[in-house]
Amino acid sequence: MPRVNPPDVDRVAAAQAAVAARRARAAVKHTVATRARSAVDVLDTAWSDEAPFAEATLRVRELLTSIPTLGPTRAARVMEQLGIAQSKRVGGLGVRQRAKLRAWIQERESGKAPSSRLVVLAGPTAVGKGTVSTYIRENYPQVLLSVSATTRSPRPGEVEGEHYYFVSDDEFDAMIARGEFLEWATVHNHNRYGTPRPPIDKAMAGGSSVLLEIDIQGARQVRQAMPEAVLVFLLPPTWDELVRRLIGRGTEDSAEQARRLETAKVELAAQDEFDYKIVNAEVSSAAREVVELLTVPGSH
Ligand code: 5GP
Repeated sequence: MPRVNPPDVDRVAAAQAAVAARRARAAVKHTVATRARSAVDVLDTAWSDEAPFAEATLRVRELLTSIPTLGPTRAARVMEQLGIAQSKRVGGLGVRQRAKLRAWIQERESGKAPSSRLVVLAGPTAVGKGTVSTYIRENYPQVLLSVSATTRSPRPGEVEGEHYYFVSDDEFDAMIARGEFLEWATVHNHNRYGTPRPPIDKAMAGGSSVLLEIDIQGARQVRQAMPEAVLVFLLPPTWDELVRRLIGRGTEDSAEQARRLETAKVELAAQDEFDYKIVNAEVSSAAREVVELLTVPGSH
């Protein structure tokens, strides 16, 4: 019988080597976590000609999560954006992946902290996003709320330029053609809604944070266009409460209600894609939590 297993002495040596390698990787992560060493330095060492074992065999995900204040959700998202598979090790990255990862980490570590934030408030239909954003508009006048363009008609009490810019289908098409939207989507298979980009660029260039209250398709587009945006998912306290809010609002007919409930189910499934979840049990506290996220730590 040919022997397939290595001799015992080799197996023991291999096991010892594996333990040593794990310890060495843990030590690298520790130096990054304690800021004794920069993550960029780990990358440069891993990719140097000597290719030290520990740095090169460290998983990208582990390196990212050892960077202080970078959590696992964000790390997974960054890797997705950079086109790096979750299981990849630092030494196994292709040339372009290396360049993108290094640039991303370098920018983060350079301490060029942004002075403003783009916060996106999304959530299932009827969860009360509109109520929370109205509360913010009325109680936190310092918050800049983006005003969307929509092809739907105004509801009673809605003011042009304050709640929405009410535009025709043709005007909406023209805005798309001119590249004026940061994102836009057809919501509930019906009307189109879009976020005009120029006011946001202007506000952020001036150091002001901006809040967007949009649907989930829109939130996903913002993530693509502006990876640093903070995505917030507003949750209902319970599913029954969501149904109650949808029926109780009385602004839609029953066919529209049924359609929106279907949408809400699909939308709820997207919650884990978001950076923060806020339960809308009480409007004033949900609003306060959202406003707190608009404040960049360390800025005034
Ligand atoms: P409503 O017609 O009730 O005001 O809004 C319907 C839905 O459209 C809400 O879920 C709201 O968040 C979403 N919405 C409002 N403005 C925008 C926008 O600019 N972009 C996207 N994608 N959705 C929006």
